[in-house]
Amino acid sequence: MSSRKLITAARVVTGPGGRCVEDGAVLTDGDTVVAAGRRAEVEALADGRDERIALPGTTVLPGLVDAHVHLVFDAGTDPVGTLEGQDDQGLLAVMRERAARLVASGVTTVRDLGDRGRLTLRLREEIESGAVPGPRIVAATTPVTPKGGHCWFLGGEVGSERELRDLVRRNAELGADVIKVMATGGALTRGGPATWQAQFGAAELAVVVEEARGAGLPVAAHAHGTAGIEAAVTAGVDTLEHCTWMTEDGNDLRADVLDAIVERGIRVCPTVSPHWRMLPTVFGAERAERLFGQVRTMAERGVRFIAGTDAGVQRAGFGGLRQSLTFFEHIGMPAPRVLDMATTEAADALGAGGRAGVLAPGRPADLIAVSGDPRAGLEALTDLRFVMSRGELIPPQRAV
Ligand SMILES: [Zn+2]
Repeated sequence: MSSRKLITAARVVTGPGGRCVEDGAVLTDGDTVVAAGRRAEVEALADGRDERIALPGTTVLPGLVDAHVHLVFDAGTDPVGTLEGQDDQGLLAVMRERAARLVASGVTTVRDLGDRGRLTLRLREEIESGAVPGPRIVAATTPVTPKGGHCWFLGGEVGSERELRDLVRRNAELGADVIKVMATGGALTRGGPATWQAQFGAAELAVVVEEARGAGLPVAAHAHGTAGIEAAVTAGVDTLEHCTWMTEDGNDLRADVLDAIVERGIRVCPTVSPHWRMLPTVFGAERAERLFGQVRTMAERGVRFIAGTDAGVQRAGFGGLRQSLTFFEHIGMPAPRVLDMATTEAADALGAGGRAGVLAPGRPADLIAVSGDPRAGLEALTDLRFVMSRGELIPPQRAV
């Protein structure tokens, strides 16, 4: 029996910048795209045995990429406490459920930026073998942090340069796709350095980068504080996570550091909660507006963003990427550019560029369909109508 599927839709977004074909179609064979483009041309490649899936009134686009998740955290009020109460077997079981929720929400690739016991590698293998549903996982495994530093409880504490090099090598040898380093403190870690404080100097971060490069892996730096951001940029990391420009008494978006980020093509993942509309209530209107304004400034200066939700931390559930993206439209970014952040740009930054983010011959059969045209307004992402992951149909998440 043929495993080919012909999907037709009002339009198909095939590539960056909202490149799109009206009255389009996608032909898949197993887990791979055979053709994507004008319906008449794609249909001509199909035959009577191919399964036909008509999605009138929808836009088909590449499956979404959430570039910052933590499958080990539960998105509850105390993710660290919950994690501490779970053994690896129990943890792996709930990670499977979170992966299933992600893919049902249209997220067909995730970058997991820190787990415990390298459990994401086991889950990645289960998903790749087809045993359980879930997105493609680009895994950081054990995040690098100083003794008692941010997320020390995930098992990645290093006290010397030797330990630092050893951890990066061990992660790489065991199958990590990216190295995560905690350049600053973080709110999740009680008793650790303050969120704005740098945990490593530029020289130590450069050692992380050197070891990662040796293993052919990119480096993602968790960096809230301005000092840590500057150190990470100097060290030559590939992506900056959060990038909130915090100082002891506020925020300091440094123009010179921002210029270096743009010049070096460092991608920024300004993790945005699906519930970003609550931020003025949680943080106060003034602080929220300052944070929003910083993201707007970075966008205006030409920073290349990738989309991420920090799923797993407080208030960031699995499957909220589509709501999170509406934030960027709110601060004035054109919808096609926001869609790029969650497809082509993100896949490229994750090193998954050859595999995901684009609908073209030979690319993975990872795609979604939503009502209406999201290029004209991201509200259209709300109504998810169809999800295909590795050529398999996944019942889409209805409620958001
Ligand atoms: Zn994170």
